[in-house]
Amino acid sequence: MTVKQEIETLKQTIQRYDHLYYVKNSPVVSDQEYDALLRRLKELEAAHPQCVTLDSPTQRVGGKVDERFKAIVHPIPMLSLDNTYNLDEVRAFHQRVLRGLPDVPEDSIEYVVELKFDGLAVALTYEDGLLVSGATRGDGFQGEDITANLRTIRSIPLKIDTESFKRIEVRGEVYMPKREFERINAQRAEEGETPFANPRNAAAGALRLLDPAITAERKLDIFIYTVGFLDTNPFETHFEMQEKLSALRFPINEYNQLCRNFESTLGLIEEFREKRKELGYEVDGLVIQLNSLAHRKTLGATSKFPRWAVAYKYEAEQAITEIVDIVCQVGRTGSITPVAELQPVFVSGSTVSRATLHNEDEIKRKDIRVGDQVVIEKAGEIIPKVVRVIESTEKRETAFKMPIACPECQALIHRAENEAVWRCVNSACPAQLKERLRYFASRKAMNIDHLGPAVIEQLVDSGQVKNFSDLYILKKDEVASLERLADKSAQNLIEEIEKSKSAGLSRFLHALGVRHVGQRTATLLARKFRSLKRLQETDYDELEKIGEIGPVIAESLKAFLDRDTNQQEIVKLREQGILMEELGDFSETEGLLEGRQFVLTGTLSRFTREEAKEKIQSLGGRVTSTISKKTDYLVAGDSAGSKLEKARQLGIKILDEEALQKLIESH
Ligand code: NAD
Repeated sequence: MTVKQEIETLKQTIQRYDHLYYVKNSPVVSDQEYDALLRRLKELEAAHPQCVTLDSPTQRVGGKVDERFKAIVHPIPMLSLDNTYNLDEVRAFHQRVLRGLPDVPEDSIEYVVELKFDGLAVALTYEDGLLVSGATRGDGFQGEDITANLRTIRSIPLKIDTESFKRIEVRGEVYMPKREFERINAQRAEEGETPFANPRNAAAGALRLLDPAITAERKLDIFIYTVGFLDTNPFETHFEMQEKLSALRFPINEYNQLCRNFESTLGLIEEFREKRKELGYEVDGLVIQLNSLAHRKTLGATSKFPRWAVAYKYEAEQAITEIVDIVCQVGRTGSITPVAELQPVFVSGSTVSRATLHNEDEIKRKDIRVGDQVVIEKAGEIIPKVVRVIESTEKRETAFKMPIACPECQALIHRAENEAVWRCVNSACPAQLKERLRYFASRKAMNIDHLGPAVIEQLVDSGQVKNFSDLYILKKDEVASLERLADKSAQNLIEEIEKSKSAGLSRFLHALGVRHVGQRTATLLARKFRSLKRLQETDYDELEKIGEIGPVIAESLKAFLDRDTNQQEIVKLREQGILMEELGDFSETEGLLEGRQFVLTGTLSRFTREEAKEKIQSLGGRVTSTISKKTDYLVAGDSAGSKLEKARQLGIKILDEEALQKLIESH
C-alpha cells in the first residue's frame, strides 16, 4: 500500500468510527484503538504534509451538529484536548511549555490538575443571571441547542448571582453516574434493547433526546470546569476562576488540585490510577493545564486544542485469555449474537468468562478464532469485548462461520440487506419464546414477580407454556411440580399472573414485544386509542400520522397486528380476562394536540419560536421543519414566504399568531 492509500484508508476508517461514536453513540472500537489510528494518521501527515486535507479527522474537533436540533454558535470555539497514554509525552508537554515561555522561570510555572470526566462537553450561557441557553460542543464552532434537556439536570443553577457579570458562558462535562449507568443498562437488557457501550455514550444519548422528560428520567449530572466567555475578565488564574464558579454555586469537582511544580502532576497521575475506580463516576484520565491565564494566552492553541493543556488517559483495563469456544445466542427478536466463551480471567474487579463478539462482520474483521490468545477489555462496559487477537496458537481452528440454522430450533436463519445481524425467523423458536416471556413479565411490562428466567426455562422446556396465553391457564399444582419450586412460591406465582391481568393497555402493548414499540410508544398508543380494538381497526396511514410514530413503527405494528397467529393469541388473552383498555386518568390538557403536526414560519412576535414550539409540544403536538401532506397546521408569522404558499397548495390549515394563542389557550 502506498502512503497516500494508507492515509486515505485511515481517514475513511476514522470518519466511520467518528460517526458511530459522536452521532450514533455506539462505538465499535475502544478509545485506545481509535487513538492509535488517529496517531498513525498524524504521523503520516506530519511526514507528508502535502497529503493533509481540510476534511482530515486530524483537522477537526468532535462531531457534527445533528439537524434535529437548532445550532448554537460558540462565542469562543470549544476545542478538544491533546491526549496521550504515555508519561514521557506528558514530560515532553512540559518541555514544550518551558520553550514557549522562555522568560518565565520554571519554578513559577503552576499547573492545575483535574479529573478528566468521561462525558460530554457542554456550554451554559447566563444573561443577567439567568440560564438562557445550553449547547453541546458539536464541531467546536457550533453545537446543538439542548437547553431544555440541560435544564433537567438538578445541579445546574437556573439562576446565578449577577453582581459581577452581565453575560457569562461556563463549560463543563455532563456525565452519567456509574450506578445510573448500571441501572439503565440492566433495564435495557431486561427489555431486550442493546446496552450502552459506556457511560459517556449513555450520557450523550440521554442529552440528545428530543424529549426532555426522558432526559430527566436518566439521572445525569455535571461538573463545571471553566469559563468560556465573559464580558469582563477579572481573573488571573484558572484556580481563582474556579473558586469564583464554586461561589456562584456551580458544581466544581472536589479533587481539582493546584500543583506548584510539574513533578507533582506526575504524582497525581499515579495516585488516581487506582483511586478513580472508587469514584461514583467514570474518569478516563487527568487534565493537566497551566494555571496562569496570561501564560495560556502566550502559548495559544492549534486549530484543535490548546497548547497549554494535555490530557493523560488511563489505559482501559485489559487482560489476555484464550477463546475456548464461540457460541451463538438467540435473542427475543430472533437476533443471533456470537459470543466468545473464554478461559476465565480476572479483569476490572470481576471474573470474566464470556465476551460479546457483536456480529459476523466484526469476527471477520478481527479474524477471531477458537484457540486464539486474545486481549479482552472492560472499559466502563458491562459486557466485556474482545479487542484483538495477539497470538494464534497451534490450537487455532478454522475461521468462524455463522451456523445456517438457529442453534435452538434448527430453523433456517436469515440476514436482511443492510443489517449486520442474522435472525431466526421461526416465531415458535423456544429460545425466542423464553426471551419474549422474560420481556412480557418484566417490571415495566406486565410486572409478573416470581416469573424469572429459571421458571420460564422449565415452563417452556416442559411444554407447559408455548405462548403468553398459556401462562394464564397454568394451575398451581402444575407449577409446583417444577424443580425447586416450593408450594408457596407456586401459589405466589399464580397470584402474580392473575394480578397482571389488570395491568392495562400500555403495559400490555409494551409486553407484546412488537419490534420498535418500546415503553414510550406503547404509552402513546394506549393514550391515543384507549382500547386495543380501536388500535386494531386503525389503518397504516392513520398510524403514521401520529407524532413520533414514523413509517418504521407503523409498519412493524401493523404487520404484527395483522398476522393471524397474533390475532388468535390476542383473542385467547382477551378470553382469559386480560384488560385491553387504558383506564388511566390523564391530565386534562395532556395530549390534546397529540398527533398534530405543526410547522412554524415567518417572524413571530408574541412568542419566540422556541416558546411556541415548547407550548405545542407540551400539549402533545409535534413541530417539524418541512411542510408535507402530514402537516396539520402551518403557523405563519410576518413575512412568511414559500412555506405559506405550499401550505395553501396542499390545503393545510393556516394559523396566525393569534389563532395559535387561542388554540393553546383553549387547551
Ligand atoms: P477527549 O475526550 O480526549 O478530551 C477532551 C474533552 O475532555 C473535552 O472536550 C471535555 O469534554 C473533556 N473533559 C473532561 N474533563 C475535563 C476537564 N476537567 N477539563 C477539561 N476538559 C475535560 O477529546 P474529545 O475531543 O472529546 O474526544 C476525542 C476522543 O474520543 C478520542 O481521543 C477518542 O479517545 C474518543 N473517540 C473514540 C471513538 C471510538 O470509536 N472509540 C471515536 C471517536 C472519538
